[in-house]
Amino acid sequence: MSRTPITAGNWKMNKTVEEASVFAEALLAGLPGMDGIEVIICPPFTALYPLSQKCAGSPVQIAPQNMHWEAKGAFTGEISAGMIQECHCHYVVLGHSERRHIFRETSEEIGKKVKAALDAHLCPILCVGETIEEREVGKTEQIIKEQLLLGLTSVSPEKASQVVVAYEPVWAIGTGKAATPDDAHFVISYIRQFIGDEYGPVVAEAVRILYGGSVTPDNVYDFMKDPDIDGTLVGGASLDPAKFLKIIQESRRAK
Ligand code: PEP
Repeated sequence: MSRTPITAGNWKMNKTVEEASVFAEALLAGLPGMDGIEVIICPPFTALYPLSQKCAGSPVQIAPQNMHWEAKGAFTGEISAGMIQECHCHYVVLGHSERRHIFRETSEEIGKKVKAALDAHLCPILCVGETIEEREVGKTEQIIKEQLLLGLTSVSPEKASQVVVAYEPVWAIGTGKAATPDDAHFVISYIRQFIGDEYGPVVAEAVRILYGGSVTPDNVYDFMKDPDIDGTLVGGASLDPAKFLKIIQESRRAK
């Protein structure tokens, strides 16, 4: 089975609505002809709706960087799956390492978010990854396994192939020190194996697994030429439309 590759840009807390709109114009102008790849932009909440409007009918999907698991209520500062759907989003990023480490989100909470997203027919992009300390003591696989077990705890085999997993080693995010393609391959193969053990070979073959961590136009080809790596989640380099377009172009060239 062939998996459609993904290039996703995580803007974190960057870009006003106006700046997002200028970016979208440049991106849309550069995209024609770049088929066969899904392009996702993850702006701050404020730009979700305007960007969805702007990109309607184009190959670009808009996705939030987080959401709450409850449908509504006294959860100041949060947004729900229903609110995300109202912005015409199809994907949602969950469990990003900045959410885990700065905002102390637990894997149990992330698991509740994954369930709520799937219940609302959204595809979660579930981020997993080890810290440098965990890596140095040889705990990478153990940490990834724990994050997957808890993150996917309520996911049925019927829905599992809708989940996208992003392997983002924490030490590679925003540091300029990307993992080597071999390191990424090793962990991504482990993730696919884990999914196969939990859900069977058909789901393992269908689930898309991305690499994230200091991806640039110069290194993306080497990740994407690995048949097990289905795309990238890009932070810093996704803020510049020319760089982001180059990453999409190089990703297509590799597949
Ligand atoms: C990210 O924010 O998910 C990320 C991978 O950031 P960067 O590409 O800047 O390392």
